[in-house]
Amino acid sequence: MDMISHGFIAYALLHRLPYSWLVLPIAFMPDIITFLPLLLQGKALTENSKREDVPNYVVTLYAITHSLVTYAVVFLIVAYFFGAWALLLGAWLIHILIDIPLHEADLLPVRFLYPLSNVHINGISYATPQFRLFNYAIITLLYIWGF
Ligand SMILES: [Zn+2]
Repeated sequence: MDMISHGFIAYALLHRLPYSWLVLPIAFMPDIITFLPLLLQGKALTENSKREDVPNYVVTLYAITHSLVTYAVVFLIVAYFFGAWALLLGAWLIHILIDIPLHEADLLPVRFLYPLSNVHINGISYATPQFRLFNYAIITLLYIWGF
């Protein structure tokens, strides 16, 4: 899913938390960590990108930042040291859970149990016009009902 949608959805679901503005950078974080090095090189992935266009380090960063195992470890560390602040990491969890069914296996599958397993779902692409329309309709409904 696109980063802006991740931010909208996470904020709609977590806006009642203290310091809820932090939900936005946390919701963007998995994709920023993954793709920023590529962007700094003047490169970017598009909807027409193929697997061979994706450097291996991007595949690895993507697996790490989109792993429920990584999330669980970081959540436990943050919860131990900062208590309830860890609830803000729910934005990261929402990001992963949304991406799992919305990425096709041939480009960047979400290996959600990485590094324990490479299991993934061959999901539907979020980049189709039909899904984007559905996506923004859901986001609109979340904001109508959530605030
Ligand atoms: Zn993502």
